Amino acid sequence: MEHPDPGADVGHLRAEGVAIIAGSVTDLAGVTRAKYVPVARLGAFARSGMGVSPSWSVFCVDSGIAFTPTIGVAGDLRIRIDPEDLRVVDAGVAWAPGTLNDQHGHPAPLCTRTLLSRVERAAADRGLDVRMGGELECTMLSADGGPATTEPWSPYGIRTSLDRSAFLVDLATSAERAGLPLEQLHTEYGHDQLEVSLAPDTPTATADAVILARIVLGRVAARHGLRISFSPVPFEGAAGNGAHLHLSLSDADGPLLSGGDGPHGLRTAGAQAIAGVLDTLPDLIGVYAGSAASALRLKPGNWAGATACWGLENREAAVRLIAATPGNPHGANMELKLIDASANPYLAAAAFLGSALRGIGRHLELPEEIPENPAQSGVDTPALPLGQREALDAMETSDVAAELLTPAIVEALVAVRRYESKTFGGLPPAQICDALRLAWTC
Ligand code: GLU
Ligand code: MG
Repeated sequence: MEHPDPGADVGHLRAEGVAIIAGSVTDLAGVTRAKYVPVARLGAFARSGMGVSPSWSVFCVDSGIAFTPTIGVAGDLRIRIDPEDLRVVDAGVAWAPGTLNDQHGHPAPLCTRTLLSRVERAAADRGLDVRMGGELECTMLSADGGPATTEPWSPYGIRTSLDRSAFLVDLATSAERAGLPLEQLHTEYGHDQLEVSLAPDTPTATADAVILARIVLGRVAARHGLRISFSPVPFEGAAGNGAHLHLSLSDADGPLLSGGDGPHGLRTAGAQAIAGVLDTLPDLIGVYAGSAASALRLKPGNWAGATACWGLENREAAVRLIAATPGNPHGANMELKLIDASANPYLAAAAFLGSALRGIGRHLELPEEIPENPAQSGVDTPALPLGQREALDAMETSDVAAELLTPAIVEALVAVRRYESKTFGGLPPAQICDALRLAWTC
């Protein structure tokens, strides 16, 4: 009789000391959850997948579950991983990003990784090559989740980095071992704040790399007696943590964001792509920065891009254009500044790319550039629903959100965030920060 669960070749994993394998999915609250198997069960994880309740898709930032009329206690789904994606993330532990499938092996409607791969295919069908890059800002915490240090901080200071060189060296070494393409790592502006940036890749590869980077940062921090917060605002009044995404597009004639006759060399389709991202911002801010902590960050002066405008190298604009120069070997790209790490990176990437494609498809016109601080420009910009409740109202009733993300995902996302809003939204800011500080830690 044939074995129902033939094993996979795990010799190379065993040789690296791997004993258990994690397959994760990131839920609509932006929290990454995982199932584990002993290494010998890799074949089953890849072929049939490991069972999870459909309620995984409506788990909230705390232990709550935001059941909807269509998601209840019955039913079952499978997390499946591709053995090719496995990365060693800790002693004895390998990890791979998972997809959510039904029991017949078909993609589950609420699988955000599958949604992103569909949007990527739509871009490829239009002859577009897409690259995305991720940046992760985060805050080091003490082992008990409080401030890591109280000594004076020097933004980007050589001292603040050198004082943590053992941590940073471990981070670079662990990233290399995990195949994580780090481009930069440094101490940031905020107290105990770090940033790592990732090399551009396909959108799905970049969303996977964002999760991998969170895992690696978390493991390295633990080895150094620290924890890591990715919360948009870890402590009331502290500098915010962004999770900026960079996007570039090319067709057979070359990049869309350079080499043209438009402002700063934009080609027509490139200008339309930026227009598309700005056009959907009010509907999709609930995707990009929709947690109860997000609104605490989206304030003028925080370089968080809280204004619905674009500008060359403008760090206060929701979309910052980075031109192709000798100092930028990756070529021209647009950076979505207002996004934070409470966003599911697969869903956010699908929304970002989908909006750019929609702008091209509809020939949307690029608004006037705001080349300086929007607060001082005197130019009116479209209002953004910056509060969590306003963002959810806009998303729930949005045809664009349903078109780009599917009605099923929007319904579940709104349910999860409404639960969050009811549970945490009415608290004073300091308590919101306390409650959510570790919510997106991997
Ligand atoms: N920390 C800022 C944010 O919340 C971004 C600072 C920067 O431009 O690197 O997005
Ligand atoms: Mg930064």
